Amino acid sequence: MKDIKEKILNSEKIVITSHVNPDGDAIGSGIALYLGLVKKFPNKKIKFILQDKVPKNLEFLKGTESILLSSEIQGNLDSDLAIIVDSATLERIGDVKNKIENIFKINIDHHISNPLYGDINLVENISSTSEVMYSLLKDLEIDLDFNMAEAIYTGIVNDTGNFSHDNVTKKTFEIAGELIELGVNNSKIAKDFYASRTYIGMKILGKAFEEMRYIPEKKLTYFYLPYSELKALSGTKDDTEGLVEEINSNIESEVSLFLREEENGTIKGSMRSKKDADVNAIASKFGGGGHIKASGFSSTLPAEEILKIVEQSL
Ligand code: 5GP
Ligand code: MN
Repeated sequence: MKDIKEKILNSEKIVITSHVNPDGDAIGSGIALYLGLVKKFPNKKIKFILQDKVPKNLEFLKGTESILLSSEIQGNLDSDLAIIVDSATLERIGDVKNKIENIFKINIDHHISNPLYGDINLVENISSTSEVMYSLLKDLEIDLDFNMAEAIYTGIVNDTGNFSHDNVTKKTFEIAGELIELGVNNSKIAKDFYASRTYIGMKILGKAFEEMRYIPEKKLTYFYLPYSELKALSGTKDDTEGLVEEINSNIESEVSLFLREEENGTIKGSMRSKKDADVNAIASKFGGGGHIKASGFSSTLPAEEILKIVEQSL
């Protein structure tokens, strides 16, 4: 924390970034930091840059309108410091990586698979990067305002499944309590955030429920969505958000595997575990990672091959 504080104080131009397909924790922790730094250091130039655009169900967070897309930026970024939040690897920030090549990096995260790729690393095995951010902002003596509180609360909701996962601790509730005191409306956030399926997303979910396979010997639920079928429904990857959790809600299922083919034929894998299976370890067999109960990877292997390796690992 001390090193981070010093580095921030000594940098004039700071860029914040996070992972591709940003979720509530990526945007929440990044926005809280962005708003905090802008407020505390009005003379510094602070930017928040992402490869992919903010999903619709997070646009309600104040500050997201200031997020820049890396495609809008030519060449390398002119910056003294890059702060990367919620990204398990440096590669996961996508094409922002090329733009911060020779810039000093601070890595703020909560994934156990994080290889500590920063010049300074603040990686804690707790509920969310937003929970890490809460402590960091306190340490930077930045008073949380309502907008920062909403961002952190949303990040925690995102990564704890609205306080239902086993990564929730007493501290998580204490922080949430403070955020409520700052005016956060828990019911509004849950509605803004969760009641946000797209029509196409529901059609895809229907298809998943129809076509998923349950493999009882492994207590595994599996669904594969080829790119052609996503296109046939006029869907995008955003429309598959949350699908991997939904297919694991079968009472018998303990692990879910959702494979989605991308336009170039690579397969994006998502896994969830309800009980003992360590899906971080399984994702790492494909070069991915994440958490014990939620992980992801990209692979050039065919879907059936990936399924076979996952089955063998369970
Ligand atoms: P999701 O299935 O929601 O995309 O991701 C679940 C978890 O796995 C998240 O915490 C995410 O950061 C991590 N994750 C997803 N995809 C990858 C990946 O390709 N590589 C690594 N290292 N982690 C991933
Ligand atoms: Mn996270």
